[in-house]
Amino acid sequence: MPLYEYICDACGCRFELLRSFSKADEPVTCPKCEAPGARRLLSTFAALSKGSDGTTTSVAGGSSCASCAATSCAGCKR
Ligand SMILES: [Zn+2]
Repeated sequence: MPLYEYICDACGCRFELLRSFSKADEPVTCPKCEAPGARRLLSTFAALSKGSDGTTTSVAGGSSCASCAATSCAGCKR
């Protein structure tokens, strides 16, 4: 089972739980203050690959290069 990290809005504590993937997004009760609204934290890795707000600047396959501002750049891509 994967390990997920949760944060409690009520007391601000973070804790980790082993949960099955299908239950990962279900609400959790905080083990410290027993408030029911703890939410799952996305790992940095998952947040990076998701790009949920559409503000992501494409690193691979974009039409312009972020590091040299050329329209087509093969030299400085990663
Ligand atoms: Zn709490």
